[in-house]
Amino acid sequence: MALKERSPETPKTSPKNPRVANRSIDTYAAQCDKCLKWRVIPTEEEYEEIRSKMEENPYVCDRKPGVSCDDPADIEYNATRTWVIDRPGVPKTPEGFKRSLVLRRDFSKMDAYYITPTGKKLRTRNEMAAFIEANPKYKDVNLSAFNFTSPKVMEDTVPEDAVRKVPSSANGNKKRALKDSA
Ligand SMILES: [Zn+2]
Repeated sequence: MALKERSPETPKTSPKNPRVANRSIDTYAAQCDKCLKWRVIPTEEEYEEIRSKMEENPYVCDRKPGVSCDDPADIEYNATRTWVIDRPGVPKTPEGFKRSLVLRRDFSKMDAYYITPTGKKLRTRNEMAAFIEANPKYKDVNLSAFNFTSPKVMEDTVPEDAVRKVPSSANGNKKRALKDSA
């Protein structure tokens, strides 16, 4: 997938024990379009801004104050963290709302949802439409800015023992065979 190279990525640190790893994003990074080095993006807001305009305005090192392509990468893409790739062009989250991503315990997928300014957790665009209808204060918020597409979990950075040791089949053994992998 060619887009991957230019996508901002959101790597997630896996501490020593991956099974109790923090399952939300803890580091944002974008890849330079020229030198392909990874730069850490300090805030989620800045990251979202970069991501939303990735196609028309690819990220480059110089956008980070005092940094150029000659400087070493801030972070390396490798399995010391689990990386997830956002789709380029996911819109910036409307003000007052927060986009949240949680990695499933078996590292299979991230779930995307939004927290409203009133603290409600919404998982679909229909729920968001209902919320906006019930709260006219937010009627100017653009519904299409809510994107529930989850980023892709990069399999080559998932801890090796993540799938097998997770007790996801605790309520029955039937599914266990399906989980086997090389
Ligand atoms: Zn660069």
